[in-house]
Amino acid sequence: MSWSACNLAGKTALVIGGNSGIGRAAAEALSNVGASVIIGYGHRESEAYAVSQQLQLVPGASTAIVSCNVADIDDVKSALATVHAKFGSVDIVVNAAGITEFVPIMDLNAITVDMWNRILHTNVIGAWNVGQSARSYLQDSEVGNLVFVGSIAGLTPSGSSIPYAVSKAALHHLAKLLAKAYSPRARVNVVAPGTIDTPWMEGHEEMIAASRANALLKRAGQPSEVADAILFLATTRYATGSVLVVDGGLSLG
Ligand code: NDP
Repeated sequence: MSWSACNLAGKTALVIGGNSGIGRAAAEALSNVGASVIIGYGHRESEAYAVSQQLQLVPGASTAIVSCNVADIDDVKSALATVHAKFGSVDIVVNAAGITEFVPIMDLNAITVDMWNRILHTNVIGAWNVGQSARSYLQDSEVGNLVFVGSIAGLTPSGSSIPYAVSKAALHHLAKLLAKAYSPRARVNVVAPGTIDTPWMEGHEEMIAASRANALLKRAGQPSEVADAILFLATTRYATGSVLVVDGGLSLG
């Protein structure tokens, strides 16, 4: 087969949430090994454009942007169809889209039904929209990898809020069920980061400090360090239905 984690020339990757943080780093990693990378954005088109302009600075890079609001299945379907029409295949899909609210776990009264609905709709139904819509494209590809960005909040009772942690636990389970539905021709995996220094953490520096204190590696992670794992899962031939923890040992600390 003509692809590897070191060479994705001729392959096409849609990175949803590629306009910021972990998704942006994943887009850079995939582009660096030769993939055509399409930045899917939910709301911030100008950030997507800026990332795409940055990727294009590398000679030979091929990139584009597309609206891909995971909460809207028609937008997801349209994004995939656009990528396929323009690039001829959809070989890899990375879904880094996610939202949260920062509410301490003890503060039950601060959680509203509206918060639950918004977080579950983006993080779980949104992931479902991607998983349902991407299958036929990925099964037609010789690469055929879907990678979700989960969280250690979905593995341990922790994280920015209860609805968020529950949404990531549901996402992990969804990915395993999708791995069955995609088999045997394509794969579905999850990377579960710990605390990563992205725009997500702005205003929540206490979580970065907690990682310095509690993670086995005594620091928060960088987006590029999660992107390394995403690149592995985006090119794996034999892992499917797996949840790869990349948390510097935070969940063990
Ligand atoms: P960012 O805030 O930098 O990125 C969040 C991304 O989600 C943005 O690209 C945003 O794009 C996108 N997004 C939100 N809603 C939608 C939507 N409806 N449709 C499409 N895209 C959407 O934070 P991170 O990079 O840190 O977060 C990326 C993922 O990593 C999230 O799923 C998060 O849960 C997960 N994660 C982050 C951790 C951390 O410590 N930073 C730890 C564990 C997991 P736009 O604004 O255009 O909608």
